[in-house]
Amino acid sequence: MKRLIKNGILVDAQGESQQDILLENGLIQRVAPQITPTPDTEVIDASGMYVMPGGIDVHTHFNIDVGIAKSCDDFFTGTRAAACGGTTTIVDHMGFGPKGCSLHHQLEVYHRDAVDKAVIDYSFHGVVQHVDDDILHEMQSMVEEEGISSFKLYLTYGYKLNDADVLRSLKRLHEVGALTTVHPENDAAIALRRSELVAQGKKAPIYHAHSRPLECEAEAIGRMINLAQLAGNVPLYIVHLSNGLGLDYLRLAKKAGQPVWVETCPQYLLLDMNHYLREDGLKYVLSPPLRPHAELDKLWVGIADGSIDTVATDHCTFPYSQRLDMGRDDFTRCPNGLPGVENRMPLLFSEGVMCGRITPSRFVELTSANPAKLFGMWPQKGNLNVGSDADLVIFDPHAKVTIQHQDLHDNVDYSPYEGFHCQGWPVMTLSRGEVVATQGKFTGKAGHGRFIRRKPFAYPED
Ligand SMILES: [Zn+2]
Repeated sequence: MKRLIKNGILVDAQGESQQDILLENGLIQRVAPQITPTPDTEVIDASGMYVMPGGIDVHTHFNIDVGIAKSCDDFFTGTRAAACGGTTTIVDHMGFGPKGCSLHHQLEVYHRDAVDKAVIDYSFHGVVQHVDDDILHEMQSMVEEEGISSFKLYLTYGYKLNDADVLRSLKRLHEVGALTTVHPENDAAIALRRSELVAQGKKAPIYHAHSRPLECEAEAIGRMINLAQLAGNVPLYIVHLSNGLGLDYLRLAKKAGQPVWVETCPQYLLLDMNHYLREDGLKYVLSPPLRPHAELDKLWVGIADGSIDTVATDHCTFPYSQRLDMGRDDFTRCPNGLPGVENRMPLLFSEGVMCGRITPSRFVELTSANPAKLFGMWPQKGNLNVGSDADLVIFDPHAKVTIQHQDLHDNVDYSPYEGFHCQGWPVMTLSRGEVVATQGKFTGKAGHGRFIRRKPFAYPED
């Protein structure tokens, strides 16, 4: 089936121009100012709309088992929600497996979870939960044979790594062509603060934020920047940045030429820690937590000035009913994580592009081009070049939509963005040329999504 999108404003990370775009066999076949359709071509009129590379969300947790609970979106409902929100590829962070398991163990579990379920293309980040010679050796085959060219290390939670193991991982992962990503929070500081708060009976949701203030995160970011330098100035990617101090450390490192990149998420740009004081404050328990309002503005500066590289979601869903059951009397018992995969694109488009903070091209860079480049999917994805996958989103800048959970396509029972007004909305999503969502309706099918065997890490050229 051939599809021709006519009269739209094509946007990639370089700029925008009015062009037609022809899709065939799942790929972008032609881009030109005027393309005349043949009789077998379905024509989509995109007059007045932006036609952009589909979103790439490089931080989701579908089907994750966090020990005390299992998240409620699987690779079907999670990718369905993603597709309806203009995202055409996700890279999921695999959860921890049994103690001592190999790197391949979790990969096999996740392949089983995703195959026949995903409605858009997907990949996984590896997870390093312990370090020994076998694991260091195994990293190579994960990259070369399995196409897993990024891994995550945790500095907190049960399988946190110590500094020596972080150093060994950073060095080895770079050697084998993988990008190291890290969840940076100072575990010992958090554990101490949490135990002090709990001992004082301070167990309401607001104390979740007080138990892990931004210094815990910024300290660990600074530490990771220095460890990456010590490991041989190796590439490093910081996930889910929530505060301005951590961003300042990253700016310093970038200015010195160190290869570091950083992701933030819509929740850190749009929601502040006052949400924990609401009656439904448990809805917002995630780590790192929501921050004081001043931090939001600092992150927006980073979005605008180029010092933040990607926007992902950390989509990890636990129903509000379950959060209440578990965490009503004690925030430490509430599973951590927020929904968001369906609203990343419209929220950043509305608050970023339509509010005049960023250009449409910068939006594409943050949501698609940079993720593709950093995670081994460029130029297959993240652009509108002839020969690339026909993964597209069409945005109507005139549409006004109020986010209501009842209209979303995930499997959770609330949205942290309930009632948000969006100017501009994704009205059609195409995955390899197939329309997987249109006008808020899911039109794709389970199993359409393919596993993306990602290329080894390469330094982005610009
Ligand atoms: Zn995460």
